[in-house]
Amino acid sequence: MRKIQIFDTTLRDGEQTAGVSFNLQEKIQMAQQLETLGVDVIEAGFPIASPGDFNCVKTIAEIVKESAVTGLARCVEADISRAYEAVKGGVAPQIHTFLATSPIHREFKLKMTQAEVLASIDHHVRYAKQFVNMVQFSPEDATRTEPDFLVKAIQTAIDAGAKVINVPDTVGYTNPTEFGALFRYLRQEIRGFDEVIFSSHCHDDLGMSVANALAAIENGASRIECTINGIGERAGNTAMEEVAMALHIRKDHYQAETNIVLNQLKRSSDLVSHLSGMAVPRNKAVIGGNAFAHQSGIHQDGFLKNPSTYEIITPELVGVSQSTLVLGKLSGRHALFTRLADIGFQLKRGATTTV
Ligand SMILES: [Zn+2]
Repeated sequence: MRKIQIFDTTLRDGEQTAGVSFNLQEKIQMAQQLETLGVDVIEAGFPIASPGDFNCVKTIAEIVKESAVTGLARCVEADISRAYEAVKGGVAPQIHTFLATSPIHREFKLKMTQAEVLASIDHHVRYAKQFVNMVQFSPEDATRTEPDFLVKAIQTAIDAGAKVINVPDTVGYTNPTEFGALFRYLRQEIRGFDEVIFSSHCHDDLGMSVANALAAIENGASRIECTINGIGERAGNTAMEEVAMALHIRKDHYQAETNIVLNQLKRSSDLVSHLSGMAVPRNKAVIGGNAFAHQSGIHQDGFLKNPSTYEIITPELVGVSQSTLVLGKLSGRHALFTRLADIGFQLKRGATTTV
C-alpha cells in the first residue's frame, strides 16, 4: 500500500469561499479537529494577508502537535519571511510559495516573461530554503500552462531545493484523463521526481475535482490538497471526505491509504458546515444527510436482508450512528414492519398488538 498524504486547506482556500470568514477561535477549533482527523499538513492561512491571518497561522502552529502547519506566500521575499515568522513555532514548519506559470496569468496578471518567471521561482525557493527545509512550490494555473514550460518551472523549483511540488488545477479546467497524463508526463520529464512529494490541488468548476485528484494519485502524486466538505474558491476544492473514502473503499484498485481517521469525518464535516455557514447538500457523497438513507421498497428489503446489498460504506465508518429507512410512497412492507417493531409494535395476522 502506498501512503497518500492529506494536505488540508480548509483554513486557507476554504476561507476564500465567497461569503465565508473564520475568526481565530473558529480556526483553532477546526485545526484541532483536523489534527484529530489525522491530516498530515494543515495550511492555516496566508500570513502576509493581514495581521489577523498572521496571528491565526502563528497560534495554530504553536498549538497543533500531530500535523505539520504551513502558510501560503507569493514569490515575494516579504511574504516568505512573514510566512516563516508565522510557522516557525510549529513542530514541522513548512512554507508554501507559488507563482503563476500559464500564459494568461503571465501576460495579464504578472506581466512577466517566461525567463522572469523562472528567475523568480529560483530566487524565492532558495530564499524560503534559508528558513525551512520543507519548501513547497506551486505553479499556479499549471493545467493551462504549456507542458514544456511547466517542466522548466518545476525543475527550477526542485533544483532550487523545493521538497514538495503541488500541481494546481486552479480554475477547475482539467479532466481525469488529461490530469493523469500530465502527471505521467511530469514523472517522465522531471529529474528527481521520485525524490520530492508531488501533490494535486483541484477545483470543482466542472465537478471533476475529486476524480482529478484520484487520477493524480494513480499517476504518481503522493499528496492531495483538499478541504472538508469541498469548500473553497468559486465551486470549491477537492472534498477530503470523498478522496479519503474512495481510497479506503476501493483500496483494491488504488492500492493506497491515508492517515485519516475515517470515523471523524462526519464530526469534521458538521463542524466546518456550522462554522462556515455552508450547509452540506443532503445528497452529498459520504457525509450528506441522505448518504445512508433508503426509501424505495426494493432497496429497503435488500438492505434489511444484508446492508451490503445497497450500501458500500457503513455509517459507522464515517461516524454516523446508523442508516435510516425513510418511509415514503415507494417503501415496502419489510421496512414498514421493521419500523413498527422498532417503536414497539408487532403486526400479527389481521391485528396489531403492542409488545
Ligand atoms: Zn485553490
